[in-house]
Amino acid sequence: MPFQRKKFQVVFIIYWVLLAYIIAALVFWFTALNKQNVQMANYKIERLNINAISYSADIIQIETEKKRKLAQYIGEGATFLGLILAGAIFIFRAVRRQLRETKEQQNFMMAITHELKTPIAVTKLNLETLQKRTLSEQQQQRLIHTSLIEANRLDNLCNNLLLSSQLESKAYQMIQEAINYTTLVEELLLEFKQRYPNVPVIENLKTDCVVFADDFLLRMVIHNLLDNAVKYGAKQPIEIQLYKDDKNCSLSVIDAGAGIPNEEKDKVFQKFYRVGNNATRAAKGTGLGLYLCKRIVETHGGKVQLTDREPSGSIFTISLPLTKNSD
Ligand code: ATP
Ligand code: MG
Repeated sequence: MPFQRKKFQVVFIIYWVLLAYIIAALVFWFTALNKQNVQMANYKIERLNINAISYSADIIQIETEKKRKLAQYIGEGATFLGLILAGAIFIFRAVRRQLRETKEQQNFMMAITHELKTPIAVTKLNLETLQKRTLSEQQQQRLIHTSLIEANRLDNLCNNLLLSSQLESKAYQMIQEAINYTTLVEELLLEFKQRYPNVPVIENLKTDCVVFADDFLLRMVIHNLLDNAVKYGAKQPIEIQLYKDDKNCSLSVIDAGAGIPNEEKDKVFQKFYRVGNNATRAAKGTGLGLYLCKRIVETHGGKVQLTDREPSGSIFTISLPLTKNSD
């Protein structure tokens, strides 16, 4: 990676030097041509016969010619400069886009390699232990339980990856229908409690919230928010609120973890972005969850909000437009 950065730095330096050289050369040629133009006009004036009847008219003609040439140089120079600048901006943007894509690709590779390998390695080891050793019922259950958690993580990762590529390539066919949001959240919370029996959940769900949404995508959003609340919630209770006003139905997932600093609040919704570095991160992940949440909610005409919980923790709120028949 440092090699890549150095390579791009060299490319950028060459680019700026070349651009500066072209502009300097353009200014130089403009000054030189204009100087020649003035000299030529002076020379012509010097050669005029001062006593000739047409003297004044000739001077006017020479001056007019001088001005015309100056206007021509300015016009041609400005067009050339404009084209050069337009080309330079175009190239700069293309290279910057390429750089961003390369960086994304690298982040993706780093995140994915580790995230794919760990669940497979853990599950494989657990299965081998189960096969080779005679274990007590309790030990067997523990190994099966950790394998299931890893398999779920892998499943979640694959779903996130597939979905993000499908959404980006517009290959995902959204099927929006009227969904009873309350029932859906209740169903997902039941699943959640079975998966994490030790995490207390405080529910406050308004009944009969109906939204017009894609069932699978909405489940993915809630799933990712709950997953984050467990991962970053410092084993504290999680609070889920579902409420509605005249226009929107909002779901808040509230945790009592360390929270997210203000300067990171926008960034966490970027693709593959994760707060901190490898040394400070305790939880596993790829940085895709919140990117997908935002993308999905916005595709449904809704919005995602991230605020602080007092005294600590985060509140993620997704608001979706209510369907007309929901009161
Ligand atoms: P993935 O969701 O793909 O498994 P992830 O959880 O790291 O990985 P996101 O869900 O997109 O990715 O979250 C991005 C980052 O935002 C996280 O890495 C974490 O640093 C921060 N974050 C997300 N939710 C919370 C939260 N509830 N509390 C504190 N930090 C959070
Ligand atoms: Mg996540």
